[in-house]
Amino acid sequence: MDPFSYERVGDVETAVAAIARDPGAAFIAGGTELLNWMKERIATPRRLLDINDLPLGAVELTGSTLRLGALARMSDVAAHPEVRRRIPAVARALELSASPQLRNMASMGGNLMQRTRCPYFRADAVLPCNKRTPGSGCAARHGENRAHAIFGWSDACVATHPSDLAVALAAFDAVVHVRGAGGERTIPMGEFHRLPGETPERDTTLRQDELITAIEIPLSAATAASEYVKVRERASYEFALTSAAAGIAVAGDRIVEARLALGGVAHRPWRLRRAEQALVGVAPSRDAFRRAVEADLVDARPLEHNEFKVELAKRTALRALAIAGGLA
Ligand code: SF4
Repeated sequence: MDPFSYERVGDVETAVAAIARDPGAAFIAGGTELLNWMKERIATPRRLLDINDLPLGAVELTGSTLRLGALARMSDVAAHPEVRRRIPAVARALELSASPQLRNMASMGGNLMQRTRCPYFRADAVLPCNKRTPGSGCAARHGENRAHAIFGWSDACVATHPSDLAVALAAFDAVVHVRGAGGERTIPMGEFHRLPGETPERDTTLRQDELITAIEIPLSAATAASEYVKVRERASYEFALTSAAAGIAVAGDRIVEARLALGGVAHRPWRLRRAEQALVGVAPSRDAFRRAVEADLVDARPLEHNEFKVELAKRTALRALAIAGGLA
């Protein structure tokens, strides 16, 4: 780890002004991801701005909107009664993430800023990795790519995004609130994380001078009947091979709203919009769910070693839909 200075900032304006003046600075909250990057020299900030004193830790329900402060801790959000009641998929995604110790420290904003667990990106040795060293190549493209993307990848990068929370937020059209030197703006969750294209070194559309202040989730009948399912290689403290967030709202005997997003399959959460549209107006059934999901999965482009993820993603999505739709 390289030397760095450390200071606490007491208000949002000071924090944003400080980072706008100093591109070598970085915000730190829980530190559960940034410190890994610093130890692995993935990031080498000269100056850490500790934002834990900022008043951004609240979880608030206002009308039909749930607002998660950027500094709210994963364990607190997962245990919050309104989160559990109004959008159980978010509570479940958080509970299935990391370890209890990490969930006690890690923040909402930091969770969204996680970077891929691609072993070439995280390696101690210097390996071809366009995300870590632009222009160096992608060792995973024709190498060990069992856990990598099946959607939206490019020859420059085939990595997946690791956040469980992001998948649940993307399924339900959450919005990320940010503050930068130019003022406030909002970023729809579906646009927060990028596909790799030719610039995989950029994971998000957040600008260098911007701070995440909150995440807002519009609540509906589908958020209340929601579920998150995660498939991984061991039962705890592991990232998803595939995951799915689903929500199903039914009126009478017909689906009136369907939400579905996959995780572990692309450089960002992967929304299955065709499946969602196909389910509206039909009666919930395992056959209807299967037809809808299969119609969307035809776009999958597996790599040499991860063809199994297409079937696994389908089964993960069907399990999430079945639970959300009351058929499990
Ligand atoms: Fe690097 Fe992306 Fe290739 Fe992994 S998949 S080696 S992160 S460029």
